[in-house]
Amino acid sequence: MLCMLQNLDILIRHDAIQKRVKELAQEIEKNYQGRPLVVVGVLKGAFIFMADLVRHIEMPLACDFLRVSSYNKDRSTGVVRMDFDMTQPIVGKDVLLVEDIVDSGRTLSYLLKHMETKKPSSLKVCSFLYKETGAGMRARVDYIGFDVPDRYVVGYGLDSEGLYRSLPYVGAFKE
Ligand code: 5GP
Repeated sequence: MLCMLQNLDILIRHDAIQKRVKELAQEIEKNYQGRPLVVVGVLKGAFIFMADLVRHIEMPLACDFLRVSSYNKDRSTGVVRMDFDMTQPIVGKDVLLVEDIVDSGRTLSYLLKHMETKKPSSLKVCSFLYKETGAGMRARVDYIGFDVPDRYVVGYGLDSEGLYRSLPYVGAFKE
């Protein structure tokens, strides 16, 4: 593992992540002002970010998850597939969708369409990372943790072929 990690440039350190996650949680708390919230995490990538985020949001909230696949061996196939959906109805609820990273924006567009058919009373998006690739989805993401360059990033939930999710920081492979 150690020698694999030597191939990584650290882009965002653990302490910077923790500080930003707390700030996001405070912003979210302020914006909902105690209205109960359903936080929906997109698996698998968002699981660590969501776990940290919800523990800093001091208001009533429910957690749910869904899973989509959009990548094949680290390359976008361009096709988003729903592997499994949420377990609770969101009709009439305030919903916060939690993503690991928005890259081409295909996954987010797919999910927004999907969630809107379920008629939540509001639908906001929080993404841990935002990769500026010209996809123009920025306006649709209400809360962004960090901007990252157009490199393949891993750690803090994000994987490469199933590995690296447990790293406490975000890194990118050396070029
Ligand atoms: P999009 O549909 O926006 O192109 O990509 C969204 C999904 O692709 C993310 O939820 C994530 O699973 C994966 N993805 C996109 N860019 C990266 C990256 O740099 N690193 C990792 N690990 N996954 C990525």
